Amino acid sequence: MRLSENGSAKTDPGVLTNCTVCPRNCYANRFSENRGYCNAGAGFEIASICAHKGEEPPISGLNGICNVFFYRCNLQCIYCQNCQISTNSNQKIFKEWSLAEVLDRICSILDSGCKALGFVSPSHMIPQIIAITEAVKKTGRNPVIIYNTNAYDKVDVLKSLEGIVDVYLPDLKYADAELAKELSDASDYPLVAQKAIAEMYRQKGAPLITDADGQAISGLIIRHLVLPGQVNNSMNVLRFIANDISTKVHISLMSQYNPVTAVIGHRFLGRSLSEVEYEEVVAEMEKLGLERGWIQALESSSNYLPDFCYEHPFEKKVK
Ligand code: SF4
Repeated sequence: MRLSENGSAKTDPGVLTNCTVCPRNCYANRFSENRGYCNAGAGFEIASICAHKGEEPPISGLNGICNVFFYRCNLQCIYCQNCQISTNSNQKIFKEWSLAEVLDRICSILDSGCKALGFVSPSHMIPQIIAITEAVKKTGRNPVIIYNTNAYDKVDVLKSLEGIVDVYLPDLKYADAELAKELSDASDYPLVAQKAIAEMYRQKGAPLITDADGQAISGLIIRHLVLPGQVNNSMNVLRFIANDISTKVHISLMSQYNPVTAVIGHRFLGRSLSEVEYEEVVAEMEKLGLERGWIQALESSSNYLPDFCYEHPFEKKVK
């Protein structure tokens, strides 16, 4: 699964003409105007490439991670915190990059001290990711490659990333199919994501290998965002990890849910997570023996909201 030698996705006659890159299996021609579910084209549709220090400590490292934020997404979560860029509506994308521009930007950030290169919302952009990674490695740079995904990924596609991705950073959102349908338009999400995470675990196992600075260089970290009113879903997600993956895997439990405009008035998403709800989930995590990882403090959730109108979306400077 790759793009053409010169890196122009527009000239590739391969996988994107009949797209089955993600579990939606649209068979869309992404070179045409007749796009698939994600509405993504065949080029480098990227909202931002920036250094980001707000990830888990072994992901950000001392100087932040160089994150590539793609436009659009193969899930359409109604509460998405990155909804400015993740929507698949027909809105014009802010910018389509050339591979040379992508490479230039990534290299300048890596040269400023970032050791890792992360791809955020990557599941619909696998050929582009492979092209970018190959181009970066050809320059002699060898960043740690992080796959920061919603876990709505196909197992065979993940197999094709073996040896390319160093650290998998999936978000396991739901154990409940009805909830997945209502909130993310994907009733098969639990089944698909569970298989995807089992494949990531097959590739990486439980150990999180770090360098002398504590930066992750190989492994798997499973994220879970606790949603208000959905304690049972969170508990079932954690039970799946403990019972079907491993109690030794690293988990990042997140409390940073913040209601976006689209869910104001929603019957349970219209408010923040309560302390009682979060404590119940944390207690279950401890009861299950899931001891490795991070439990985010329940604090001001608006601190984590990016604004992609800025060149640095998390620092909100330089329009
Ligand atoms: S990547 Fe996009 S077009 Fe391809 S199968 Fe997934 S949703 Fe459909």
